[in-house]
Amino acid sequence: MQVEADQNLIIYFNGQYMRLGEAKVGILTHALHYGTGVFEGVRGHWNDSQQQLYVLRAPEHYERWKRNCGILRITVPLSPQQLTDITLELMRRNRFETNVYVRPLAYKCSERIGVAPDDQDAHAIIAMPFGEYLHSANGLHAGVSSWRRIDDNAIPARGKICGAYANSALATDEARHSGFDEAILLNENGHVAEGATCNLFMVRDRRLITPPVSDNVLEGITRNCIMQLARHEMRLEVVERSIDRSELLVCDEAFFTGTAVGLAPVVRINHRPVRDGAVGPITHGMQQLYTDAVHGRVSFYRDWLTPVYDAQHPHEPEVALAGTAG
Ligand code: PMP
Repeated sequence: MQVEADQNLIIYFNGQYMRLGEAKVGILTHALHYGTGVFEGVRGHWNDSQQQLYVLRAPEHYERWKRNCGILRITVPLSPQQLTDITLELMRRNRFETNVYVRPLAYKCSERIGVAPDDQDAHAIIAMPFGEYLHSANGLHAGVSSWRRIDDNAIPARGKICGAYANSALATDEARHSGFDEAILLNENGHVAEGATCNLFMVRDRRLITPPVSDNVLEGITRNCIMQLARHEMRLEVVERSIDRSELLVCDEAFFTGTAVGLAPVVRINHRPVRDGAVGPITHGMQQLYTDAVHGRVSFYRDWLTPVYDAQHPHEPEVALAGTAG
């Protein structure tokens, strides 16, 4: 799904709340030319019966963001808790009562020619209404890309570094033009790494298998949620090990995970059905568990969630639309 953002959205940019349409960057911005930014993706899920918007594992996302910024020596001068508070404030100021995607972005902002980074950093958080990223209800058709996953010694995949997403863009472009819904990238060793924007799991003999973090994958937070749910709720053995390309063609089930995609079943890979080509029982069970957990319907996993609205922060607050962050 491609989302055109409303220019009137209230966003957070370098310490200020402002309209999206007012947040401008210069044409010589370092990150625009050299990819020297680090981003995140965070989800909010709307629970209609509880009239509540739940933000999923926000402190963990901000902790990852700050650490990844450290790879490029970008400073975000706020703690994960402060960043979480800003995120909640954005949701309230925008009066969101729907599923939401949040995009934190930090980048090298000096405006000049020359690749050497300096200490000028900028950061923004943009939250917007966001539905399904991939239409996956009936399962996706994935294709193994001719592009390789970028290597840790070139640009670390775990870093969510803006420039690294040229790799994902190339693979996605190729996949879509070849009639696939999503790409699967192999790493330079020829092992399965991940999707262009999501982690990959397969099921073989009731074991859930996913590549280890040392196989050039993003250390996905959804991946971590799924591993916890699989172990504790489904009593499945979860194995992190390298996956051969041909295992994709003989596995029982496969699915992608990610903040944007959630848990998306894969029912065909390179024109071959995964097993019988229908969404398998483990995938289906995991999808239901995950959906329930992120919507606040499973008390055990409530500590993954931060509610946006409460008695002090009701649904239609009388707040200034823009201004300095408190
Ligand atoms: N791999 C890549 C390349 C991604 O861009 C993402 C999305 N952040 C993921 C995996 C999934 O990570 P997470 O579950 O933390 O969103």
